[in-house]
Amino acid sequence: MSVIAWIGLGHMGAPMALHLVQAGHTVKGFDVVPVLSQALVKDGLQAAASIAEAVKDADVVFTMVQTSEQVHDLCLQPEGIFAHVKPGVIYVDASSIDIAMTTSLHEAAKSRGIAMLDAPVSGGVGGAKAATLTVMVGGDLAVFNAVKPIFQTYGKNIVHAGGAGLGQAAKICNNLILGVTMVGVCEGFMLAEKLGLNSKTFFDISSVSSGQCWSMTSYCPAPNILPNVPSSHDYEPGFMAKMMLKDLNLAKHAADYVHAMTPMSDEALNLYQQYTDAGNAEKDFSGIITWLANLKAE
Ligand code: NAD
Repeated sequence: MSVIAWIGLGHMGAPMALHLVQAGHTVKGFDVVPVLSQALVKDGLQAAASIAEAVKDADVVFTMVQTSEQVHDLCLQPEGIFAHVKPGVIYVDASSIDIAMTTSLHEAAKSRGIAMLDAPVSGGVGGAKAATLTVMVGGDLAVFNAVKPIFQTYGKNIVHAGGAGLGQAAKICNNLILGVTMVGVCEGFMLAEKLGLNSKTFFDISSVSSGQCWSMTSYCPAPNILPNVPSSHDYEPGFMAKMMLKDLNLAKHAADYVHAMTPMSDEALNLYQQYTDAGNAEKDFSGIITWLANLKAE
């Protein structure tokens, strides 16, 4: 069993860290909001008072925070992770962040003799609680193989995507597809209804025709067709629109990084920007169907 430091105990990090505790690892948790680590002490997590205290004896250090800037500062600030880890440590960033930042952190880690993996996840808070996340990993294969049993405590599908940054590439490209297909499904259902076609009837047709996709058959944005999805619960998240906006911005940065054109993703970004600006940042991302329905052509 390993000594593991876990930095960032929010919606995703807390349940993921608890799976490591349940698997028998010693887990030292730290969050800038101390109550979040203290709340998990009853479940066996050791609450650390600083990054240094969390990481100094750790075999593996995880971060699970919101933004690229947070991960950068956590790694490189004078009181940060890289300044306090022991030799031979493996550092894993499970956050969803920028490709360029991830690549530069891999280089910074390597220059200090620290092995790093980027290992973002898909599956949401439900997947984190149920230990059914998909984990997509970038970095050296040998390091991936060493950490794989730990990934298996919170993940169901664990995939080595390739070298440094390619875990983030997989996550960003997957969510690009999700954002684009959700807008497409919303447009189809919105237009069908305006043309007088009942949404359930359209679902019964399109879900077994060539329009079928995950955004329709697992997360239908039209209400009261699927029971346990946000559209049937007033678009309570689920996956917040502001998170989709963040992921589409990551896709935009990634495309710029390699001089690629992603016009459909750019348009989805534009629409999610407008949807969140209209006061819907905390609504589920499938709620964009209601906003689209209110737009009128000149
Ligand atoms: P969250 O905001 O609930 O949790 C992030 C935690 O990091 C917070 O508790 C915050 O206090 C902590 N934090 C921030 N800066 C810190 C620092 N310097 N030191 C210590 N702790 C710090 O976010 P989340 O929903 O758990 O998401 C985490 C990451 O996972 C994000 O990158 C997100 O895009 C990604 N993700 C989220 C979901 C989801 O459904 N929520 C799904 C897949 C991936």
